[in-house]
Amino acid sequence: MSRGRRPETWAAQGVTGPDPTMHGLVPPIHASASYARDPDGSYPGGHSYTRDQNPTFDAAEALLTELEGAAETMLFSSGMAAAATVLDVLPEGARIVAPREMYFTFRRWIETRATAGRCRVDFVSAGDVDALAAAVVDAKTDLVWLETPTNPLGHVTDLAAASEVAHAAGALVVADSTLATPANTRPIEHGVDLVMHSASKQLNGHADVVAGALVTARKDDVWARLRHERGQRGAILGPFEAWLLLRGMKTLFVRVGRSSENAQSVAEMLAVHPAVTSVSYPGLPDHAGHETARRQMDVGFGPIVSFQTGGGAARAREVAAKLRVFTDATSLGGTESVVEHRAGVEGPATAVPEDLLRLSIGLESAIDLAADLGQALER
Ligand SMILES: *Cc1c(COP(=O)(O)O)cnc(C)c1O
Repeated sequence: MSRGRRPETWAAQGVTGPDPTMHGLVPPIHASASYARDPDGSYPGGHSYTRDQNPTFDAAEALLTELEGAAETMLFSSGMAAAATVLDVLPEGARIVAPREMYFTFRRWIETRATAGRCRVDFVSAGDVDALAAAVVDAKTDLVWLETPTNPLGHVTDLAAASEVAHAAGALVVADSTLATPANTRPIEHGVDLVMHSASKQLNGHADVVAGALVTARKDDVWARLRHERGQRGAILGPFEAWLLLRGMKTLFVRVGRSSENAQSVAEMLAVHPAVTSVSYPGLPDHAGHETARRQMDVGFGPIVSFQTGGGAARAREVAAKLRVFTDATSLGGTESVVEHRAGVEGPATAVPEDLLRLSIGLESAIDLAADLGQALER
């Protein structure tokens, strides 16, 4: 890390230090939309208007920059706003190569744009670097979008190998690192240009903020265009949400550690359960991405465990309905464990099996989680 400390230390303390006015250990929430000028027209506090930047964003952005080993970070009003802004700075008609299995709402967003003639998109199997290499030389590629591990199936991409083939073809490389978080993976160390987060998930970790972030390896032209886009359009976070996110990130490492341990034990329990036909979790040795995940993920394999029940959507829904410790709800990465029938949410365009349930594993007792799944799977 840049200043000789481990990321766990930055996370626990934040990077901005005690607030210079009142010396509070915890930074204040700067609610002001506007900032006073000096007589010469300059801004002594370095800020003018919150649509561009705000001191509470500064504190959260500085911490995420440190955790990712990056040059700079920008918070957005949601993960989708961050991801969509990347598309907005590409040239009109840009070609995108993206994984077929990726976060559903963003895949649909790219497809809708492509249908409207604003970009071209080709999908390759998630994690298949040979297929990616073939796709990027097929035609000029502006953007290679990566996601690892994927939501909800846990496909793992070797970020260094994927970045190398994408860069050789002259493409910008962006990784959705929502499920990994910087506690596990720092994509910039593997050659990625931009990291995208849905901070609504485990980065904040308390299911009480919707937020997104872009993190850059370099303050280059692309970054300047992204900053201009955010500042003009104003897809910003409120100062209170930025402060909550900063508070959430302080416990990132302990939360990721605990939920990964829980997720690993739930995945192992489901893998040998007679009423379960298949389990997707990168922490299981027979998962296709296990070896890559072991090299690329530090603390564990993330909070998402997906499994199939057999018997179609009806059986999956029946199991979900019997769960008591898990709540049936969308989203992921909070302290509380949730279950969701993804095919039902995604509809006919889904790439997810009908009988799949996605679990987001929280911080409860692993014994309670396993017992709940055990009773729900009983016929
Ligand atoms: C939730 C999620 C998003 C979208 O983020 P929002 O904050 O909900 O807009 C993007 N990618 C992944 C992997 C996600 O899980």
